Amino acid sequence: MKINEKNTTINPLANLTLNQDITHNGLGVSAGIAIGPAHVVERGLIDVPEYTITESALELEVARFDKAVQKSIRQIQKLQSKASVLEGAAAEELLYLLDAHLQMLRGSRLVRGVVHRIRNTKNNAEASVQAEFSQIAEAFSAMGDNYLAGKIEDVREVSARLLRNLTSAEYQAFSGLPLGTIIIAEEITPADTALMDPNRIGGFTSTLGGAEGHTAIMARSLGLPAVLGAPGVMRTVKAGDIVIIDGVRGQVIVKPSKDTINRFKRRRQALIRRQRQLRRLQRVPAITKDGTAVRLQCNMELPSELELSLDAGAEGIGLLRSEFLYMNRHKPPSEDEQYVAIREILEGMNGCPVTVRTLDIGSDKLAYSLGNHISPSVNPALGLRAIRLSLKVRPLLETQIAAMLRACNHGEMRILLPMITSVSEIYHVRQTIAKVVRRLRRRRIKLPDELPKIGIMIETPGAAIASESLAQVCDFFSIGTNDLTMYTLAVDRGDEQVANLYNPLHPAVLRLIQMTVDAAKKYQIPVNLCGEMAGNPKYSALLIGLGLRNLSMAAPSLPRVKQRIINLNVSEAYTHSQNILKQSDTTDISNIIDEYNSLKKN
Ligand code: PEP
Ligand code: MG
Repeated sequence: MKINEKNTTINPLANLTLNQDITHNGLGVSAGIAIGPAHVVERGLIDVPEYTITESALELEVARFDKAVQKSIRQIQKLQSKASVLEGAAAEELLYLLDAHLQMLRGSRLVRGVVHRIRNTKNNAEASVQAEFSQIAEAFSAMGDNYLAGKIEDVREVSARLLRNLTSAEYQAFSGLPLGTIIIAEEITPADTALMDPNRIGGFTSTLGGAEGHTAIMARSLGLPAVLGAPGVMRTVKAGDIVIIDGVRGQVIVKPSKDTINRFKRRRQALIRRQRQLRRLQRVPAITKDGTAVRLQCNMELPSELELSLDAGAEGIGLLRSEFLYMNRHKPPSEDEQYVAIREILEGMNGCPVTVRTLDIGSDKLAYSLGNHISPSVNPALGLRAIRLSLKVRPLLETQIAAMLRACNHGEMRILLPMITSVSEIYHVRQTIAKVVRRLRRRRIKLPDELPKIGIMIETPGAAIASESLAQVCDFFSIGTNDLTMYTLAVDRGDEQVANLYNPLHPAVLRLIQMTVDAAKKYQIPVNLCGEMAGNPKYSALLIGLGLRNLSMAAPSLPRVKQRIINLNVSEAYTHSQNILKQSDTTDISNIIDEYNSLKKN
């Protein structure tokens, strides 16, 4: 959900004298240490922008509010038509509720009151909605009537919808903050993270969020220290308080003492020195001690990571998540816009291959621009996600494929399809590609003789088990261990409450990886692994032992993985992986891995 920014003035040195060292524990999802002033982000009705409207702009402000009302009405009507095909008491209740919301938007006290406030107090529409809601809620609860008390929730929901529609244009929320600011929020979405400029923002922490959700992945890709799933921080921190984010140990320290700050500064320096040392590996080829070449590529979330990927010495982009094109905007991007963005990345990679994945929106990756196509789902991870959405809303896929095919004239490109579970999905995409090729040729757009290879993500247990059939109808595999772990273990990758159960080392996940690699070998297609596992050097020997020779990861992880690879022997790694595959307990597997890695370090 979009978050509303709190209007706060930040004084970086405020509260330094309190020296309280309040420590909160969470999940360290992106290594690194950041020290800086807090910017507290709150959602909902409490903190909305508040400013005065000049006399001459008052009617424009009323019109802006009216537009938000009309938009809210359209949204509710859409929800009504969806609810009307449902059956049973729940549907009836939902329709009744939506009807009540619609009545409220068509001239209730709330709407009239807001217009009155804008004209009389000259406050902006958002502040007027909030003030009117507070007054109605107060009046209803003062009446001591249960029915009216229940109505407060309806007024709150309608007010929240109006606020969302009024504020949704204000996406550039984190620009203009002081250098090194630490963002603190209840929830930070991947789209919010996309707005954080790593040159300005120091790091972030939130109450919600798991280690393998997309917010965490983006933090790692951008090299932003982050701790997620840290309860309590919001209650102890005020805007401007100094906060330390320790993304290595998963700690957030609020109002640190001078001694603590100095200690963390020393640790931060040591981390930076180590990163500099690893940079020397940039041009060293990733070849094991016994002469096996491993292709190390980067995953890319945002075009701004291009430099980071080149600096890390990536041999290509193994996974370009195209979702960035759809985030923080009202309409999906045009074919031209997508073409330009992909072309720039291809050209920027100087001839190295780029694997562009079609849209993987849904589950925890929601783009506002597709709001109309994705209805709220009881279980979004199992709903209309990724290729399912692309195949249902064909123009989305056709536009994206057209942009990709046009861009493939400018570099070596491969197309990757997310969340494939059956061969028929691949056939349907191939048919769409053929149709788009015909259309582009009619437009006299020159395409290369050889069209891009079409690969699929193996990220569900079904796909891994059916990998032999799938291998026969696609050109390459890319194993997505983030989702594969989630779907195999039935553990939401973004939910901090079950983060302790999320483990890619579970024997079931490892067997599915092995099965996929074997199927790829049997049908002689390349197989890559682009889940977060690839970027953890602890797992390098295991993955090489399982037969993987292509790994794709966040740029900051690549040098450490390369260092591990150039120090290992494939034959030893094979024995290590076979030993692991014999285990039935995840803890035993972890211990074997730790032991192996500590021996290799000495
Ligand atoms: C994965 O699931 O492992 C993967 C790489 O895809 P994403 O994280 O974008 O879902
Ligand atoms: Mg995935």
